Amino acid sequence: MDKELSTQVCVVGGGPAGLTLAVELAKRAVPVVVLEQSAHFNRSFRGESVSPDSVWLLERLGLLERLEGEYEQMRHMEIMDAGRTVLRTDFADFPYPQPFPIELPQSTLLSALAEAGSAYPDFTLLRQATAAGLIREPGGPVTGVRARTPDGDVTVRATLTVAADGRFSKTRSLSGLPFEKLPLDRDVVWLKLPMPPEWDSATYRIRIDGDQHGLFIPTRPDSVRVGFNIPKGGFKQLRAQGLPALHARIARLAPELAGTVRREILAWSDTSALDIFTTVAPRWSMPGLTLIGDAAHTLTPVLGQGVNHAIIDAVTLAPLIEGALADGGGVVELLRASEEFQLARQDSVSRSRSLQLRQERLFALHGRLGGGYRRLLYRTVDGSRALKRRALAGAYFQLQPRLSPRSAPAPSAPRSSRGTEAVSRPPADPSGRE
Ligand SMILES: Cc1cc2nc3c(=O)[nH]c(=O)nc-3n(C[C@H](O)[C@H](O)[C@H](O)COP(=O)(O)OP(=O)(O)OC[C@H]3O[C@@H](n4cnc5c(N)ncnc54)[C@H](O)[C@@H]3O)c2cc1C
Repeated sequence: MDKELSTQVCVVGGGPAGLTLAVELAKRAVPVVVLEQSAHFNRSFRGESVSPDSVWLLERLGLLERLEGEYEQMRHMEIMDAGRTVLRTDFADFPYPQPFPIELPQSTLLSALAEAGSAYPDFTLLRQATAAGLIREPGGPVTGVRARTPDGDVTVRATLTVAADGRFSKTRSLSGLPFEKLPLDRDVVWLKLPMPPEWDSATYRIRIDGDQHGLFIPTRPDSVRVGFNIPKGGFKQLRAQGLPALHARIARLAPELAGTVRREILAWSDTSALDIFTTVAPRWSMPGLTLIGDAAHTLTPVLGQGVNHAIIDAVTLAPLIEGALADGGGVVELLRASEEFQLARQDSVSRSRSLQLRQERLFALHGRLGGGYRRLLYRTVDGSRALKRRALAGAYFQLQPRLSPRSAPAPSAPRSSRGTEAVSRPPADPSGRE
């Protein structure tokens, strides 16, 4: 039977962006309905690396505590090129309250957010509800969403609709907001292997050989996610070469995994190909509608920036919506809030995108000259703590206040010295209402 609901904010998509926003709104007593097409939160390979800035935000939102024991704190990043270590980073050297990225299964994060939201009467999560249409009079603002569920259609009328439905956002397409999809030259194939005994579970490993690279990311509880590059659209060609070619490819990048990959990867269904692109939308909003997360700005997998920007978007937007509702909550006020949100966020997203694209170009260099230049660059950065800080700051430390040397976290006890009390430059109310 068809159903009708009425709310202040309708969020399409219960991913990191949509659920964080919904929790932050419900916390502020703003009625919110989330439409999520999936019945569960299981998402293989996706969004497990969470950047230090987001870890800091999760802590301030009271979520990190809920997730205790569910994540792996990463201590080092190591890049090997042509068999030699060219760059090694100890995250404890970074003078921020939360210098460490974490590896957290996306399903765990989403379940924790859904549970946090369920504590508020203004929070409603409808699962298996797929947004299929926007409600809009010709020339008028968006006033809600029509969704399909196994029990019939649902119409959600809302003052503001938020498109948080990811990299292939249906809501963005329905809105007609223009966006440009920029494909990268290479795609990535993901697979999962047991962690080899000689590897610790707190180090990101990047292995490069000519123009081939692999990311080896510890994944809870005891495996390693492997992502390696292929030419754009080259998965079919890779498959045509057969599994032994894939095994050889991994073994060349990480000889420690040679036996494991042969034993574990027995079918192509053990792998997952990811089409790598970024999207740029000049405008993230229109009357009655705002885009956030991947729907506003899809990024590449380099340095785990997708979840980071999704969470920061949500905590930036929530207080702006609250303010607009307090100012009358009309279409004009909400549009102004949405535009302010884009202004607050777009430079940071662009910086991450540029950093990812520069890194991708470095990965693709090959030959004596190209490979030599890349190794020289990594070694130069490796030799200077200041350069290392600068290189990673654009991705990992755009938000947190820099600690003075006296309050920097002790490397052996990173989680005990938080320094969050000394925060002087928060984003738009990232702490919400704790
Ligand atoms: C293979 C892979 C690996 C990745 N690894 C990392 C990583 O390690 N670290 C990192 O930071 N990022 C990673 N990313 C990117 C990261 O997953 C995204 O950037 C992040 O999840 C974006 O959050 P979001 O909430 O904007 O969108 P999503 O997480 O995509 O969430 C969108 C939600 O909307 C729902 N939805 C879609 N259409 C509809 C509809 N019509 N109606 C209702 N619901 C709908 C989807 O089911 C989904 O739950 C990875 C991505 C992929 C694909």
